Amino acid sequence: MDPHAGFDPKNERLPKILGEPELPQSATAAELISKHGVDPASLKGIIWSHCHVDHYGNLDDYPTHVPVYVGEGSLSWLNGGDEAEGGLASFPSHFLTGGWKYTEIGASNKQFKKTSIGPFEEAWDFFGDGSAYIIKAEGHCPGHLCLLVRVNDNGDWALLAGDAAHSQSLYWPAPPAPYSVEKDLRSVPGQFKFSPDATTYSCMQDFPEKAFKTLSSLTRLEMEKNVIVLPAHEIEATNAVNLKLGGTYNLSEYGRDGLKKMKADLGQKRHDELQKL
Ligand SMILES: [Zn+2]
Repeated sequence: MDPHAGFDPKNERLPKILGEPELPQSATAAELISKHGVDPASLKGIIWSHCHVDHYGNLDDYPTHVPVYVGEGSLSWLNGGDEAEGGLASFPSHFLTGGWKYTEIGASNKQFKKTSIGPFEEAWDFFGDGSAYIIKAEGHCPGHLCLLVRVNDNGDWALLAGDAAHSQSLYWPAPPAPYSVEKDLRSVPGQFKFSPDATTYSCMQDFPEKAFKTLSSLTRLEMEKNVIVLPAHEIEATNAVNLKLGGTYNLSEYGRDGLKKMKADLGQKRHDELQKL
């Protein structure tokens, strides 16, 4: 699910929106999976957690026979993309017209067996063997999905959480009640001040009331010893293992490495910093 997506030197939108990141060719998702012996043309599908510019990567790197999966409501939100009147300006229209086949994952989808999993009420068994579940995780934007994948034979799982949260400090350690933005910034989903002097808050979640529920589910899963929650932007996880752009980390080893504890400690530190804002 969008590994390093958006870190894509061919995506001209990204530098304009996010500044001028250094983007080596070796950091594209297609390059990374090729490096690990997987031909991008052989993929069963591309699953986008959501259709934001820093997550969809460059579809041009994949042949059109590779199906694209998005959450229900995504296509109407895109509305034809940047070249369509009223379309989402940050999404390339040619990704929609270039021949790729899109399937929305949601209530109307019959392709995958629907189930519930852990705290999430709606999930779909992607391979049909219980090794990977696409999960409806609302809040960030229309059609937001997570992916729960088994990472080894010991029963360890990883939740690739997309933008369901942007920081460890938003879901673990759990925000204390009563939830109040004045007392604890973790209690507000992705709400932050751009600077200590700012008088208003910005929010990373389009639908905060739904995001609260999703955040609670992240908290519940992170409480499990054999599940690690990994939001796409979570710096605590990458810092804990010193992962650099274009680098790799073998998730099957996270239990042995103590990664959950390491990133939780960094999350607590971040929380303490947020409290001072
Ligand atoms: Zn996003």
